[in-house]
Amino acid sequence: MVTTKSPIYAPPMRLTLLGATGSIGASTLDLISRHPGRFDVVALTANSNAEALAALARTHKAKRAVVADATAYPALRAALSGSGIEAAAGRAAVVEAASLPADCVLGAIVGAAGLEPMLAAVANGRRIALANKECLVSAGGLFMRAVKASGAELLPVDSEHAGVFQALAGQDRQGVSRIIITASGGPFRTWSAEQIAAATLEQALRHPNWSMGKKITVDSATLMNKGLELIEAHHLFSMPPDGLSAVVHPQSIVHALVEYIDGSVIAQLANPDMRSPIAVALAWPKRMASPTPPLDLAKLSQLTFEAPDLVRFPALGVAIEAMKRGPGATAAMNAANEVAVEVFLKGALRIPQIALVVQQTLNHMDATAYGLAEPDSLAAVLALDDEARAVAGQRIAALL
Ligand code: NDP
Repeated sequence: MVTTKSPIYAPPMRLTLLGATGSIGASTLDLISRHPGRFDVVALTANSNAEALAALARTHKAKRAVVADATAYPALRAALSGSGIEAAAGRAAVVEAASLPADCVLGAIVGAAGLEPMLAAVANGRRIALANKECLVSAGGLFMRAVKASGAELLPVDSEHAGVFQALAGQDRQGVSRIIITASGGPFRTWSAEQIAAATLEQALRHPNWSMGKKITVDSATLMNKGLELIEAHHLFSMPPDGLSAVVHPQSIVHALVEYIDGSVIAQLANPDMRSPIAVALAWPKRMASPTPPLDLAKLSQLTFEAPDLVRFPALGVAIEAMKRGPGATAAMNAANEVAVEVFLKGALRIPQIALVVQQTLNHMDATAYGLAEPDSLAAVLALDDEARAVAGQRIAALL
C-alpha cells in the first residue's frame, strides 16, 4: 500500500536521482530546472555514460556524481575537474549515493541493478519516487516490507501507477473492487503474429506514443511491460492478482482506472508525458507545474479500449501467471526477460523468442532443486536472479 505523510518538505527539496542519464532522468531534470530554487541536487548516478553525467552534474549543481561502472571513473573525474563536484565509481558507490541524506530519491535505473541502491534509499525513511519497476517485480515483498519498516514514503512514477495513486486518493480502500491499468499496445498492436515474428529491432523501438529507454520500449512491444506493471501494482496497492487487469488504450490518455463496489470508476487522464507523473511524485500532496500540454478532449474526439491479445502477446500471459505463482517466479521472470531483451537489442533474437525464453526459464527452474520459492533476503533475491540469468542464457544459446 502506498503511504503518504503530510505536509511535504519545505523547499528546497534535496533530491538524489539514480539513472540521471536515461529517459526518466532527462524528464526529471527538465522538470526541476523549471522550478529554480525548489530543488537541491544531492547526487546523480549513471552506469557508464561519464561525460553526459558530468555535464548534468555541472548544469544541475549536484554535489556528487557516480558511475556504477568503475572503468568509467577516469573519464568522470576528468570531466568534473575543477567543478568541485565529488566523483565516485562502482556499484557500492551507487548504493552509498542512494543513502546520502536527501528528502527524495528518485529511482530511474533500468532493471534489477537498481534494487540494492533503492533498498539503501528506502532505509533512510524519506520519500522514494520509483520509476524502476523491476525493483518490485524482482523483490516486491522484500521492498514493501523495507518501506514499512523504515517509514519511507513510496510514490510511483510509472504513469499508470501514478494514475491509480491519484484515483485512490482520499477514497475508502475497502470499497475498491478493481484496478485497471492501460497499455498503448505498442508498435505491434495491429500486427499479425507472422508480422510480429518477422519484426526488426528498429520496428520494435518505434513506440507510437512514448519516447523511452530501449529496454522498456522493447518491453512495451512485447507487452511484458504491462505484465511488469501489473506486478508493480500488486505490490504498491496490496491488490490481489484477480483484482488487477490491463486494457489496451492506443491513445495513452487514460492511464489508469479504479473501480469501486458501488459501480463508480475513477479514471486519471493526462497527455502522455512523464514529466506529469514525476511532478506528482515530487510534489504530492501539493502540485507543481509541469510543461505537459493540457488535454484537449474535443480535439482528441475519441478514446478507445480493447482487450489485450495474449496469443499475439504471450509475454503478458507469462507475467500474469508468474504474478499468481508468487515473488520467486516474478524475480526469475524479470531476470530472464532482462537477459532476453539485451540479446534482442543486439539483434540476435526475434520478438516471440523473448517470451519463449522467459517461459522456458521459469519451467526449468520450477523443475529443478532451485525452485521458485519466495526469496527471503536481498542475498536470496540476487542469487535467484543470477540463477535465472544463467538458465536464460542457456535457453538462448539453444535457440541461436
Ligand atoms: P534508460 O535506459 O533511458 O536509462 C537508464 C538509466 O540507468 C541510465 O542513467 C543508465 O546509465 C542507468 N543504468 C543502466 N544500467 C545500470 C546499472 N547496471 N547500474 C546503475 N545504473 C544503470 O531507461 P528509462 O529512463 O527509460 O527507464 C528507467 C526505469 O524507469 C526503468 O525501470 C523503466 O521501466 C522505468 N520507466 C520508464 C519510463 C520512461 O518513460 N522511460 C516510464 C515508466 C517507467 P547509462 O546512461 O550510463 O547507461
